[in-house]
Amino acid sequence: MTTHTTRMLIIGSGPAGFSAAIYGARAGMEPIVVQGLQPGGQLTITTDVENYPGFRDVIQGPWLMQEMQAQAEHVGTRTIWDTVVSVDLTSGPPFRAIGDSGDVYVGEVLVIATGAQAKWLGVPGEQELGGKGVSACATCDGFFYRGKKVVVIGGGNTAVEEALYLTNHSPDVTLIHRRDSLRSEKILQDRLHANPRISVLWNRRVDRFLGDPLAGGLTGLALTDTVTGEASEFATEGAFVAIGHAPATELFKGQLAMDAGGYIQCEPGTPKTNVPGVFACGDVMDPVYRQAVTAAGTGCMAALDAERFLAEREFAESEAEAVGA
Ligand SMILES: Cc1cc2nc3c(=O)[nH]c(=O)nc-3n(C[C@H](O)[C@H](O)[C@H](O)COP(=O)(O)OP(=O)(O)OC[C@H]3O[C@@H](n4cnc5c(N)ncnc54)[C@H](O)[C@@H]3O)c2cc1C
Repeated sequence: MTTHTTRMLIIGSGPAGFSAAIYGARAGMEPIVVQGLQPGGQLTITTDVENYPGFRDVIQGPWLMQEMQAQAEHVGTRTIWDTVVSVDLTSGPPFRAIGDSGDVYVGEVLVIATGAQAKWLGVPGEQELGGKGVSACATCDGFFYRGKKVVVIGGGNTAVEEALYLTNHSPDVTLIHRRDSLRSEKILQDRLHANPRISVLWNRRVDRFLGDPLAGGLTGLALTDTVTGEASEFATEGAFVAIGHAPATELFKGQLAMDAGGYIQCEPGTPKTNVPGVFACGDVMDPVYRQAVTAAGTGCMAALDAERFLAEREFAESEAEAVGA
């Protein structure tokens, strides 16, 4: 068992974690990033990224994350392949985390960048056709389906928002829901029903995504009518699964303020959690925007606030020492 000590401990290696690391390293905080089970984060499971600023041509998600890691390490970050299995936020700072390896991580400040995972249906074809017609992010991938017939699967706010967003690109959006009414807010439902580009297919369960990942991708969905049991197929080239996201906050339950969805609650407009010295950035504290660029932006904010927190604390300590001397 090794104890790793740093001024700035970062949990998570997505765009938020590495952006915090780049700023933290450049401020001399010699950050440690604990990578977790998905080194590089969610962008490593996608292919084309067309909306991250600075690149005129389409880039690949895994490549972008390798570059972020390389940049963070170049300026002085240590990246460690481990997963945090417990943290103690009650007695810090400094804060102590324990890795799956048995190693202990101690940070004078802690930056939480553990992200969120889209919820999937878990039916055949979904994983195989991911990025080849099946997506969980209309803002990210809607543009790739311009002019095409697409579907959104779900019945809550996320699904309705995704369907409305997709009408910017597609003249034919179908919302598929397994019940006969939506759970989303009334105002969103009104906008949905008023939009001539959207139709709703009620009482349908998606059983399978159809198509060949190596030849053309998604071609359609196999459905079952939840009332009559009748099976059918629905032709489409783009399907957006919109049944919600799960923030990776299990570790912090009972130790940090969270909203009803489990997202970490921060002081409005900042990455400051309710525990001084603990900052949260990226998708783990953002149920709304959930983009790589917003994650990177809040990662930057977390590092800047962490640096100020340490500077203020060190100044206060030196003042106290001077008075005592
Ligand atoms: C298929 C897909 C396509 C997308 N396409 C785009 C796009 O084109 N453009 C765009 O802007 N956004 C896109 N997004 C959204 C974007 O990927 C996310 O908004 C962004 O990755 C969030 O960054 P993050 O750093 O907050 O978290 P994440 O990327 O989710 O990273 C979380 C990190 O935390 C780590 N972690 C979790 N728990 C622990 C633990 N216990 N210990 C240690 N580490 C832990 C994980 O291993 C991971 O490294 C897409 C998302 C998906 C799923």
